[in-house]
Amino acid sequence: MQAAIKVDSIHFAYGSQKAVNGISFEVAPGEVLGFLGPNGAGKSTTIKMLTGQLIPAQGQIHILGQAVRGHSSAVHQRMGVSFEEKNLYLQMSAVENLKFYANLFGIKKPDIDGLLEQVDLLKRKKDRVSSFSKGMRQRLMIARALINDPEVLFLDEPTDGLDPVSAQAIRNIIRARSASGTAVLLTTHDMTEADKLSDRVAFINEGVLHAVDTPENLKLKHGQRSALVRVRQNGGIEEIRVALDSGDTGEALKQAVQGREVLTVHTEEASLEDIFIKMTGRGL
Ligand code: ATP
Repeated sequence: MQAAIKVDSIHFAYGSQKAVNGISFEVAPGEVLGFLGPNGAGKSTTIKMLTGQLIPAQGQIHILGQAVRGHSSAVHQRMGVSFEEKNLYLQMSAVENLKFYANLFGIKKPDIDGLLEQVDLLKRKKDRVSSFSKGMRQRLMIARALINDPEVLFLDEPTDGLDPVSAQAIRNIIRARSASGTAVLLTTHDMTEADKLSDRVAFINEGVLHAVDTPENLKLKHGQRSALVRVRQNGGIEEIRVALDSGDTGEALKQAVQGREVLTVHTEEASLEDIFIKMTGRGL
């Protein structure tokens, strides 16, 4: 199957400040790739190159099989972009904003009410965007990114700052899009969010990718699982952590519980955050 997004060793610097330093990855149709990294890691710069807002100094980008270099590619018609910079028209209503974008894409009969319904803004459709909260604007940005029924979707921090119900609604939209074949590239610095939403995650730090894999594989390969055994000991409670998946796990567990009153046993899994720190030497 042809990759929806194919990136080969792209580089970018702002003057002498290197921002992206030889990044390569692919996203398949219907796949959600979560781009994870701390502030200044190079996530936005990468997305800007993929969406044609910046031109890589070196390297190749192909989206839906077409080379992307700057704004001029026809493939932009098949992309949806929801970016940090909230360039919505504040003096227009939600409907007017979406109509304006539909016109830009040459879409004759956009299902604007359907999109507003999906992001739970139908009741506010005639209100000016200047009266919208941050979360409502964010949801409108997502609706706007979907106006052309995109095959590739770029979302920057799609659930950042949203209340749990709105965040869940956005996650559901992303999952539905990916189930219908849209490739999704999203950025976040929230590991839990990435774990929930992404089929694979890419760890980026200082302009370099350190891993691209499923959260499960990363945990299996790089995370240490352990069992936390709580026992009653000398009138108090003692906690003993036993590493799992090692040759002497059985013996260590036996020693932890032998002759003691066991209160609880919990297994603990390394979080993506632990693995990110282990691989990059840096937290989020
Ligand atoms: P964040 O999570 O904070 O949005 P990011 O991972 O998106 O961070 P980028 O915005 O891509 O990171 O920044 C990568 C590097 O490029 C940083 O060192 C940043 O300071 C630098 N940089 C980004 N934009 C500019 C700019 N317009 N001019 C100069 N340097 C920039």
